[in-house]
Amino acid sequence: MSPNEPTPIPILDLKSQYASIREEIHAALDHVLESQHFILGPEVSALEEEIAAYSQCQYSIGVSSGTDALLVALMALGVKPGDEVITSSYSFFATAGAVARLGARPVFVDIDPGTLNLRPEAIEPLINARTRAIIPVHFCGQVADMDPILEISDRFNMPVIEDAAQAIGAEYKGKRAGSFGDLACLSFFPSKNLGGYGDSGMVLTNNPELAERVALLRTHGARPKYHHKLVGGNFRMDAIQAAVLRVKFKYLDLWTAARQRNAGNYRRLFVEHCLAAPGSEVGDYPVQLPAETGWGRHIYHLFQIRVTRRDELQAYLLSQHIGSEVYYPVPLHLQECFSSLGYFPGSLPASERAALETLAIPIYPELTVADQSRVVEAIASFFNGAS
Ligand SMILES: *Cc1c(COP(=O)(O)O)cnc(C)c1O
Repeated sequence: MSPNEPTPIPILDLKSQYASIREEIHAALDHVLESQHFILGPEVSALEEEIAAYSQCQYSIGVSSGTDALLVALMALGVKPGDEVITSSYSFFATAGAVARLGARPVFVDIDPGTLNLRPEAIEPLINARTRAIIPVHFCGQVADMDPILEISDRFNMPVIEDAAQAIGAEYKGKRAGSFGDLACLSFFPSKNLGGYGDSGMVLTNNPELAERVALLRTHGARPKYHHKLVGGNFRMDAIQAAVLRVKFKYLDLWTAARQRNAGNYRRLFVEHCLAAPGSEVGDYPVQLPAETGWGRHIYHLFQIRVTRRDELQAYLLSQHIGSEVYYPVPLHLQECFSSLGYFPGSLPASERAALETLAIPIYPELTVADQSRVVEAIASFFNGAS
């Protein structure tokens, strides 16, 4: 970097977060190393209790990743080849990949263009005799519209698995993400709001039988050891991840508050720079801000703006040393591996448009308001022709 280039603003700054908790992390890691207990054990159990209480759930099972949380949740429901599972077409691949890995068919629902969450009214027409579950995704840190989803779930006796990988601590009408479904899945991938130093995840539930099945499946269905009741897998969580996550968990609400403050700053700055409409006003502005439903706590895992010249803007921001990311460039129904499912361009237009227009800009807790001004000013100069 030449001396007169500005300091880069990354999409996420885990190094500065680490610097703020370094001593505590080292002590926690030392503790695990001294114990030489690396898989499950007391650290994992303690984390399970803390996250269950935080998420208003009775049971929680620490697993190897968010992807495996989804897989094991579907296995616990007995999802098998020929079954169908309804989910959002705009999510991380794992949501649908877990379904397909069990030989079942993901059936995709289009999204609301404002929240990027699935449209509940599109679910019911897709339910048939083969449907085994619904997976709403709480995208970007905002809970999907659960009331109509739970109403459908009740009426059809259809289990719900919440994909809460991006939504730990988010709330909908006073209740926490993870507490609505028959099962819910969290991810502790390093970039998530609560991220470990490697892969891990968690399954949450209020159903004791499902909790028992997930716990069994986590260790090859064995109970006691070497006596296998079910065909499960190795879906265990590492003690080192749990120890790191327990340190970081103490700061989660502070970090969430900082993300929410940053979201508020962006909303103000985009309006001040005449880039986005104030409040609920509509008009001819180059940037569309992410919708906040007002029915609960948005934890701002991502702050996704929408623009029509998205790829050009991303390249321009990069030239200004500002990180951004596209979550996600291809909707799930158009992924190559799902080509046999019979979807085509135009099948789910809101997801397809989102894939072309969304851009996540930095929202991490350590971001300063000066950084945010720089991001918004760079976007302003892009749209005002400075590019
Ligand atoms: C991160 C994520 C996952 C998968 O979690 P991993 O821990 O990376 O396996 C699943 N669904 C969504 C929506 C995610 O964002």
